[in-house]
Amino acid sequence: MPRPIRAIIHPHNLEHNLAVIRQKIGQAKIWSVMKADGYGHGIKRIWRGLKASDGFAVLDLHEAVLLREEGWQGPILLLEGFFQAADLVVIDQYQLTTSVHSRWQLAAIEQATLSQPISVYIKLNSGMNRLGFSVSEYSDIVDQLTHMANVANVTLMSHFANSDLPGGTQVPLEKIQHFSSLSLPTCIANSGAVLWHQNTHYDWVRAGIVLYGASPSGKWADIAEYHLKAAMTLQSEIIAIHHIEAGQSIGYGSKFTSEKPMRIATVACGYADGYPRHAPTGTPVWCQGRRCELLGAVSMDMLTIDISDCPEVTIGTPVELWGENLPVDDVAQFAGTIGYELLCALARRVPIDF
Ligand SMILES: *Cc1c(COP(=O)(O)O)cnc(C)c1O
Repeated sequence: MPRPIRAIIHPHNLEHNLAVIRQKIGQAKIWSVMKADGYGHGIKRIWRGLKASDGFAVLDLHEAVLLREEGWQGPILLLEGFFQAADLVVIDQYQLTTSVHSRWQLAAIEQATLSQPISVYIKLNSGMNRLGFSVSEYSDIVDQLTHMANVANVTLMSHFANSDLPGGTQVPLEKIQHFSSLSLPTCIANSGAVLWHQNTHYDWVRAGIVLYGASPSGKWADIAEYHLKAAMTLQSEIIAIHHIEAGQSIGYGSKFTSEKPMRIATVACGYADGYPRHAPTGTPVWCQGRRCELLGAVSMDMLTIDISDCPEVTIGTPVELWGENLPVDDVAQFAGTIGYELLCALARRVPIDF
């Protein structure tokens, strides 16, 4: 028997979440963002659940090639563009749309030998200071690219640092609106902007985390009203049960000491599975229809929960670490992070069913 831990991917929930997002954005088209192997879910497993998307946005060339080999014929966007000029051969061969964020990329495009012109997304740095051209140089860059024989069409692209906050898109949006006279197709909204800033939707949105059923803010309560569903459930089982007396400690570092007699259970899941080691005592774990609490330190392969109030729990009882019953954001918040990180960090050793 393998260890009882496994992740389950829910294609119908992806489909559902995509439909929810579609409702929010009117006529705009959707790039479903699948970087980091589909936020840890596995592009191969999930792309069909999202095949009603207008396009897929990825990071690495190999992710784009995988999608083509899987049979996706629609648009594919390289969110960070190409990393070297030689990548343009692959961009040409697989008909990918590339973002352009640095001047060296203009020369590379101009000098490339392509079978047909490519579509480019020109990145504007609207304040995040990560990638993109500054407001002062942007018009010139657009002008250069639009006049290149190797360029078919250009789209204005930018990215928000604070779309999960009220008013968080206002200042960058003003910079973007600077260029409305260029009448370029525009793509700026990420998940937070899709949900909370309607005036950012424009022609295409780039939806990531909401498709997987987690919150752009890292707080489940912020998205509860949209009824998004978890695309991944991480589950395992109880492999041991103990009774401890008051004054006994649990796990490495004896980080938890009981104040009263308790019934505790050992779960086959640890940080080597991608469960956050920083999750403290009190982090919720779903067991037999209710939230139980994590006790003490998370080990490499195991963690311990309090089942004092769950007399019916036995060895072999299923446990959900996050998923359809327990939002990944609720676990992440205890561990001082966001759902994004936990989903992306699911370890290779965890078998995945779908
Ligand atoms: C990751 C990413 C997105 C999607 O972000 P979410 O918050 O997951 O919706 C959109 N655009 C760019 C450029 C990204 O890197």
